[in-house]
Amino acid sequence: MTGSLIDGVAIGKEIREEIKEGVTALKEKGCQPGLAVILVGDNQASRTYVKNKQKSTLEVGMKSELIELPATVTEEELLACVAKLNNDESINGILVQLPLPNHIDENLVIRAIAPAKDVDGFHPENVGKMIIGQQTFLSCTPYGIIELLERTGTEMSGKHAVIVGRSNIVGKPMGQLLLQRDATVTYCHSKTKDLATFTKQADILIVAIGRAKFITGEHVKAGAVVIDVGMNRDENGKLCGDVDFATAKEVASAITPVPGGVGPMTITMLLKNTLQSAEQACSQSL
Ligand code: NDP
Repeated sequence: MTGSLIDGVAIGKEIREEIKEGVTALKEKGCQPGLAVILVGDNQASRTYVKNKQKSTLEVGMKSELIELPATVTEEELLACVAKLNNDESINGILVQLPLPNHIDENLVIRAIAPAKDVDGFHPENVGKMIIGQQTFLSCTPYGIIELLERTGTEMSGKHAVIVGRSNIVGKPMGQLLLQRDATVTYCHSKTKDLATFTKQADILIVAIGRAKFITGEHVKAGAVVIDVGMNRDENGKLCGDVDFATAKEVASAITPVPGGVGPMTITMLLKNTLQSAEQACSQSL
């Protein structure tokens, strides 16, 4: 059996078209959504992510603002920068590109972002709202995965979803969003014993561990839907996921590729959150 491909590029494009329409509608009311990105230091990977985010922001018709700060910036200066953006009416979303230099407390900076502009969905207030099912900004990667599942008609209710990885930005919120959709959720992590016993029970298997091709066809139940969040380099320096695509696709009913699966959805959902923020701000200003 060869599973079908879940095409994150095509689904991401479809959602961006919807976002573009939303931006046009807001502009007709005199409101232009704006996303500000703060980039600290000179990490090349961060710089590439930020460049892609800026490009996508402009493509959907939003204003994009980049604030570049040196690696030597003090915590106080960074917090002042966030405070300024919190009060800037032309900015609806604020994103601080992580990781930050060691002398800066990431949690403190995330907490300084106004929850109404926290389009990454990392602020504890927004995380809390997400867990109790209140309207908020959802963390972009898990939110994008939910869109992939919904738009490919994947049934979640009553299904066993197994999440491998429990980070605050992917694994943990992923399980909560699936729970809200009535899946039965199991979390696995580095201390899980006999991982394959759990992964082989999954109707929906989500892998976010950061280990190249770690999950193989032998970990997958026949007919499962497999979502690969990982972004790693293989032995030849080629981009690959946490799942061994070649063997897993023989067993799965559907699977995301890397690249072209979850990756394009993360930026898309950041834009969707920014649009949501701008719609709220615009309706309050009218
Ligand atoms: P973290 O490093 O924060 O978390 C990794 C998680 O995997 C931890 O919970 C860890 O367990 C678990 N883990 C590590 N090794 C194993 C193992 N052998 N067996 C079971 N569990 C294990 O990673 P992130 O969640 O931030 O990212 C995961 C991957 O997803 C990375 O490759 C990252 O690049 C990618 N990513 C991709 C995105 C996209 O848009 N496509 C967005 C975000 C991330 P423990 O808690 O016990 O240490």
